[in-house]
Amino acid sequence: MKKITDKFNRPMRDLRISVTDRCNFRCTYCMPKEVYGKAYRFLPREELLSFDEIERITKLFANLGVSKLRITGGEPLVRKNIENLISKLSKINGITDIAMTTNGYLLKEKINILKSSGLNRLTVSLDAIDNATFQKMSDQKFDVNKVLDAIDYANKNGFKQIKINSVVKKETNEHAIIDLITYFKDTENIVRFIEYMDVGNINGWNKEEVLSMKDIINIIENKFELSKLEPNYIGEVANRYRFKNGKGEIGIISSVSKPFCHSCTRSRITMDGKFVTCLFANEGLDLRKPIRDDLTDAEISKIISDAWTIRDDRYSEIRNNLNNTSKKKKIEMFQLGG
Ligand code: SAM
Ligand code: SF4
Ligand code: SF4
Repeated sequence: MKKITDKFNRPMRDLRISVTDRCNFRCTYCMPKEVYGKAYRFLPREELLSFDEIERITKLFANLGVSKLRITGGEPLVRKNIENLISKLSKINGITDIAMTTNGYLLKEKINILKSSGLNRLTVSLDAIDNATFQKMSDQKFDVNKVLDAIDYANKNGFKQIKINSVVKKETNEHAIIDLITYFKDTENIVRFIEYMDVGNINGWNKEEVLSMKDIINIIENKFELSKLEPNYIGEVANRYRFKNGKGEIGIISSVSKPFCHSCTRSRITMDGKFVTCLFANEGLDLRKPIRDDLTDAEISKIISDAWTIRDDRYSEIRNNLNNTSKKKKIEMFQLGG
């Protein structure tokens, strides 16, 4: 294995694989209905990477140092037979951990097959536990209890310590912070609050709508006393806290107010095979064409390694010095998977 590092000496350790551009939700901060309505044309099947192509790419990434995978989307559970992909990926030499990020709506019926196929960990995105706010954030008339039930079932069937990710938008789901903590506090699961980010161009991001880590902590500390925990490993994105009284842990992902680019080891593949080195990138490097043109493993591996070696991304650290970031074309979150 040849481990590679970028211009700031950051190795490539993680690969996030977006397996589809489709989703059953229309979260206002990710796929607003006005844009992704009935008339929107999602990619035809032949433009998506096949499971064999994803497997081949992942082997090449594993040979360059990647050991952790995250399956995401769009909504990964709307990709048919996703468990077959997980099964293939779990057999790759060097891959030690496979996680999935899902909105949880289709999760319950897939739990057992995902587990037996080799999925190690789950992150469920959940912005509120009351139906009114949940439906407002996801812009669908779905019942939040279906997601809560799936989390409970997953806990009982092999998925311990599920991460519950909640994007916080000022004045939209602020009140959900305490509700989520209260609901999950005495479970093994870890609620993590995410600062609303300016990913992509379509969500019309506005700094005024961001609730910063400091604001979030203030809200929590009105009700619960917190103490800070050390990171589990170098490069962990969440700032960890535990409750002074009672068990449980929470996290805050402060990509806007306290960025963590210096330790960013994450690479990404879009559903149509673009290699992307930063969540805020303007474009990706096409790996699907070289694969379909029958380039050798060594040739494709060189394309990946050359791109990582010149990587100097640190968008979140320099966001405030950039002019007109909202106008510059960026890849959308549902294409990158978070
Ligand atoms: N559909 C799956 C889900 O929602 O878990 C996986 C893909 S989704 C794009 C991955 C994560 O990105 C979710 O946790 C979602 O909340 C988060 N996300 C999407 N847009 C965001 C934004 N503008 N700021 C912060 N997080 C965002
Ligand atoms: Fe779908 Fe996830 Fe985006 Fe929500 S955040 S629209 S669930 S891809
Ligand atoms: Fe990594 Fe880019 Fe996010 Fe910085 S802004 S942490 S480089 S993905």
